[in-house]
Amino acid sequence: MHTVYLSLGSNLGDKEQNLASAVSEIARRIGDITAQSAFIETEPWGYDSKNTFLNAAVRVETELSPIDLLHATQQIERDLGRTHKSRHGQYHDRIIDIDILLYDDLHIQTPELTIPHPLMQQRNFVLIPLKEIMK
Ligand code: ADP
Ligand code: MG
Repeated sequence: MHTVYLSLGSNLGDKEQNLASAVSEIARRIGDITAQSAFIETEPWGYDSKNTFLNAAVRVETELSPIDLLHATQQIERDLGRTHKSRHGQYHDRIIDIDILLYDDLHIQTPELTIPHPLMQQRNFVLIPLKEIMK
């Protein structure tokens, strides 16, 4: 079993429902959720938008490998209706974003996947929920 921390964000549609749906799909497809932060409202980071975000973090126990975990979170994003991917730091409004923050104490750097998430230390919308649930 592996302990992973995921960051969730939504700034389109029914944001609370989008986060709740993501949490239940994570529990169904990825593994048991052993901690869940409060949902916090935050301003868009790295781009301009009138749509504020709702953010959260969860801790999950999973048997998935890092790459299978990435593919599972991306499939959940698509199934909940996310259409665009971010490219070259160009951000956009999204129904749901699920990022992998930590995977045990692993360090990975490939074109598809970097763990720990490289920008987490700069983002209060990631750090505040993470701090709430880290043991
Ligand atoms: P962002 O989350 O920055 O808005 P996306 O969700 O569209 O952007 O993800 C862009 C790419 O980031 C994905 O295609 C994925 O391969 C890559 N990526 C690298 N490291 C991670 C990580 N730790 N968690 C999630 N995606 C990652
Ligand atoms: Mg993402």
